[in-house]
Amino acid sequence: MEQLPINVDLKGKRVVVTGGGTVAARKADLALRAGAHVLAIAETLGSEFDELRVYPGLTHRAGPPRAEDFAGAVLVFGGSEDHDADARVRALGRAAGALVNVPDRPELCDFSMPAILDRSPLLVAISSAGTSPLLARLIKERLESTIPASFGRLAGFMGSIRELVGSRITDNRRRRRFLEQLIESPVADQVLAGDEARARVLLAAELDAHDSLGNVPATGEVYLVGGGPGDPDLLTFRALRLLQRADVVVYDRLIGSPILGLVRRDAERIYVGKMRGDHALPQEEIGHLMIRLAREGKRVLRLKGGDPFMFGRGGEEIEMLAEARIPFQVVPGVTAALGGASYAGIPLTHRDHAQACVFVTGHARGGRIEMDWTTLIRPQQTVVIYMGLAMLDGLMKDFVAHGADPDLPVAIIDNATRPNQRVVVATVAGIAEAARAQALKGPAVIIIGTVVSLRDKLGWFKPETGRSAAVAVAEAASWQEKATDAP
Ligand code: SAH
Repeated sequence: MEQLPINVDLKGKRVVVTGGGTVAARKADLALRAGAHVLAIAETLGSEFDELRVYPGLTHRAGPPRAEDFAGAVLVFGGSEDHDADARVRALGRAAGALVNVPDRPELCDFSMPAILDRSPLLVAISSAGTSPLLARLIKERLESTIPASFGRLAGFMGSIRELVGSRITDNRRRRRFLEQLIESPVADQVLAGDEARARVLLAAELDAHDSLGNVPATGEVYLVGGGPGDPDLLTFRALRLLQRADVVVYDRLIGSPILGLVRRDAERIYVGKMRGDHALPQEEIGHLMIRLAREGKRVLRLKGGDPFMFGRGGEEIEMLAEARIPFQVVPGVTAALGGASYAGIPLTHRDHAQACVFVTGHARGGRIEMDWTTLIRPQQTVVIYMGLAMLDGLMKDFVAHGADPDLPVAIIDNATRPNQRVVVATVAGIAEAARAQALKGPAVIIIGTVVSLRDKLGWFKPETGRSAAVAVAEAASWQEKATDAP
């Protein structure tokens, strides 16, 4: 983190702004709106300050800044737009113990000003730590359209009922859930529509209903969520929403820290990591754990790599939940084969190459799986093997022994969609050696079929070469241009 975002209470505090132009006026305006006493130091104040004169907290002093002007100041804005003058102001401000900001001069700043979306008391501040205020503003503009102005009113209302709700529902978790539900209830609708009186009547009814149910333990539920292969950008909106709502998250080895970072901060996290052949917590026990947590009234999120139903044993887990009559929902995720294929530039069913794609697992309880070779080895078909890296050598020999062309292209996508993704391409005969040479550790998916050869033909973005996504996009675009230009 480049900088720490905080919200400073400026009410009644001293802020010094130097300069009498637009830049200074903008900062003075923000400080005055936050309730500060602002001392504006400039020979004259420009017309930009006219509107600010309504604030009793604004004082003007003509003349150059003096050390005593800064005594007791918490923040100082050097807004003269003259570098030397602002550098002097910075020195004076620092000497007085204030934090200084000089717009567009990061080298003179103790703090940067974020782009602010003001829905007071709700505030959204977007910061680029001074590197690109433009980008921050762009994001702010996007948010403008998605966060209605009336959200500020809702935030104010929620603040005003905190004590009342707190006195009626003392259990923390239950109170949080009540408030969460309230935000999507008719109570909130009334506030947003501007009828707070009606909202309070509805709220009173909700609280009474809650009291009468007060002794009934809240039933928990389980969300079985696919977290995708690793890149958090591949999560679904629903997965993200539930990650923010869960009381406890049960996750395993395939879940990386970028996705865990999206879990609600005070949610409990339970690792039930499974290494191949080394089940940290047996499947049954994971099921019992979730049932117990849900019976305690918790919202349990079972976070699985890829898609929960794709070799993920999600089916077994929900069977147990159903038997125990625990409510659950399943959220699909991008499975490793699909994430890997797209990030490696392999169109799994390009119609010149394949009319079918089969997903198989290379691993079974107690070792290698017995494959149905006649279904697997077919022309015009792509095969994707999960959990096959450890027994790659034997698997490929079996493929050849059962009639596969030893020259058929194979790709291994290791750590698909993650920053350390690697793709190794060879033939059925040569892939095991190539994988050994690269010391691949997995998790990895193995793609077998002529579609693999398209990767080079398409001149696709190869993440393992370390080129940026932007370059990849440019390359893809120029490739497309070439393709269109071709006679
Ligand atoms: N439910 C998961 C699969 C779980 S089985 C899914 O839908 O993707 C575990 C296997 O998935 C691993 O052995 C590997 O073959 C594959 N896998 C999971 N994440 C992967 C990743 N990021 N890159 C490549 N393969 C991955």
